[in-house]
Amino acid sequence: MTTRFAPSPTGRLHLGHAYAALVAHDLARRAGGRFLLRFEDIDHTRVRPEFYQEIEDDLKWLGIEWDSTPVRQSERLPHYQRALDTLRERGALYPCFCTRRNINQEVARIANAPHGPEGTLYPGTCRSLSKLECEQRISAGDSHAWRLDARRATEITGALTFVDDRLGSHQVDPALLGDVVLARRDIATSYHLAVVVDDADQQVTHVTRGEDLLASTHAHRMLQALLDLPEPRYLHHELVCDPSGQRLATRTEALSLAVLRESGLSPAKIRTRLPLALET
Ligand code: GLU
Repeated sequence: MTTRFAPSPTGRLHLGHAYAALVAHDLARRAGGRFLLRFEDIDHTRVRPEFYQEIEDDLKWLGIEWDSTPVRQSERLPHYQRALDTLRERGALYPCFCTRRNINQEVARIANAPHGPEGTLYPGTCRSLSKLECEQRISAGDSHAWRLDARRATEITGALTFVDDRLGSHQVDPALLGDVVLARRDIATSYHLAVVVDDADQQVTHVTRGEDLLASTHAHRMLQALLDLPEPRYLHHELVCDPSGQRLATRTEALSLAVLRESGLSPAKIRTRLPLALET
């Protein structure tokens, strides 16, 4: 068994991260498996260099040790590029020239804009552009993202499922995230593409993550099938909420481990404040 914790170095860890890390860590250690640390640092607009070390310090304080040198996604861009090329060759990608403003205008104009669990989805404006037009606009330097053609992808892969050890078996629904961005216009990859490529390259057998990412897993299964990558098992765990029921967010610095540590709380006590009684 191999599990991983994949934080973004955009802030200190809070209790929600601690829980995610402990779920992955404890699962692997109980089975005598490997536990990996991976920094999801592709968004250079949000990453701050000091957080790599601070996250490692927070984890060590919690009693979490990882196997191997932590991987940084920012150093793996050629791998994502290759995956993108494969998806393009399979006809499962298209370039999207829309700005956020174009998308909002189009969503407002059409009667039945597609919706997912996180709001409106991309309405597919660029899906029908001709190959020639796409090539001309790209060679003219028109800035573009690359999107998954979810309908085409489903035609290629057929029906897919994934298994979650807590929530059961799921039939993949390509409409949940729709034509999701796989390479941003400013960054040549995206969370979805990078996570799928890395989990396969690192031979992660059990992907544990918060249940807020359940919809993303549907898109990830499609990418794994398109890229001929192994299917991991999943465990979407509960989210840690503050006393008012709000889920913790990095930007509020809510219940950061640094603050809890300074207030004298012990790592053992932290474990007892998490949603499930995790045994060591
Ligand atoms: N960086 C993501 C997070 O912390 C990782 C999610 C995942 O495990 O795929 O939410």
